Amino acid sequence: MGNIIVQKYGGSSVGDIDRIRNVADRVVKQCKEGNKVVVVVSAMGKTTDELIEKAKALSSKPSDREMDMLLSTGEQISVSLLAIAVNDSCCKAISLTGSQCGIITDFNHKKARIDMIKTDRIMKELESHDIIIVAGFQGVNRNHDITTLGRGGSDTTAVALAAALKAEKCEIYTDVDGVYSSDPRKVKGAKKLNRISYDEMLEMAALGAGVLHPRSVELARKYDVPLEVKSSFVYEEGTKIINRNSFEETEIRGVTLDEDISKISLLGVPDVPGIAFKIFSEISENNIPVDMIIQNVNHNGVNDISFAVKGEDYEKTMTLCQRIVKDIGANGIIGDENVVKLSVVGTGISGNTKITSLYFKTLYEMGINIQMISTSPIKISCIIKNDKGIDALNKVHDIFEEYMI
Ligand code: ASP
Ligand code: MG
Repeated sequence: MGNIIVQKYGGSSVGDIDRIRNVADRVVKQCKEGNKVVVVVSAMGKTTDELIEKAKALSSKPSDREMDMLLSTGEQISVSLLAIAVNDSCCKAISLTGSQCGIITDFNHKKARIDMIKTDRIMKELESHDIIIVAGFQGVNRNHDITTLGRGGSDTTAVALAAALKAEKCEIYTDVDGVYSSDPRKVKGAKKLNRISYDEMLEMAALGAGVLHPRSVELARKYDVPLEVKSSFVYEEGTKIINRNSFEETEIRGVTLDEDISKISLLGVPDVPGIAFKIFSEISENNIPVDMIIQNVNHNGVNDISFAVKGEDYEKTMTLCQRIVKDIGANGIIGDENVVKLSVVGTGISGNTKITSLYFKTLYEMGINIQMISTSPIKISCIIKNDKGIDALNKVHDIFEEYMI
């Protein structure tokens, strides 16, 4: 048997009949080069959104089980159509649902995680077919109920299959030609990256780069699956996502702007042991992810504690904190939704004081006040007022462009 290559085509790549034919041509080309191809496809175009709309028209609270039953049909349409198109060529294809190809998940409908992949069916089909076409984003739990992996989950199906089948590589085909150093819709100078590490990609994804499902990148890192993001419309190199060990020290990968963030400050919090625990355990019990916690210097036995939450969690966190402030005898609370998080991402940057000072200097020269700062080995993030967010994004990207490869 030839090498196994896993390819994934997103919804826009199979958006209509012509595009399905285009994908069929591309996979047939791979197969003619002597490879066995496992193709994962998403639902056509906006099918998943349309199915959700239909369910909502019937009920404001459709059950998660029925939603999975419904949404999984989107991918069944695209896999069967693609198999029909491929079988019209000289190559032989078969389509399989998540369940048929042994993707076993836990019981969490709408956000299931893959427990294991029983590869025997795919391996058997590969003996008599050149191309196996798998419905992305779905699996089956041990009750034989269909589950889905969460929006954008087809990327995760593809990487999981590549790991289980020990594929040579996993190519993610989409409507953009790779991962960019910043959002090309907001930054004129944004450029396509030739390569990026798993960690940097996760950081970019979490900060809103949106090209890959973050869980797929985590899986690729765990199982060392070579990943590549490419365009399905042209034949060109994309962006390779690989292990960082192969990189030089200190490389800037990109600059990102998270506009969906807000800041909350608890004022005059008593400076005694257990207070941070009390605040953040309550927040965590409510499943609210928190970022950038800052406690200032004690004055007269009290501190101020600030942190950032996602925009969607703002109201809920404010209500919760109003109660916590009373419980712990703090002075008050201030919330600010008009902030953004601007981050410089790259390997080895937080330990490089030159980069840090250049970043802060750039904001200073623009007259921008930094409200909060956080660092990790691969990023420096600042919370600033939102009115200068886009300008700052462009300027900081400009300044760091010479450090990007
Ligand atoms: N069709 C699903 C969605 O729209 C899964 C995917 O496209 O990855 O979220
Ligand atoms: Mg996607």
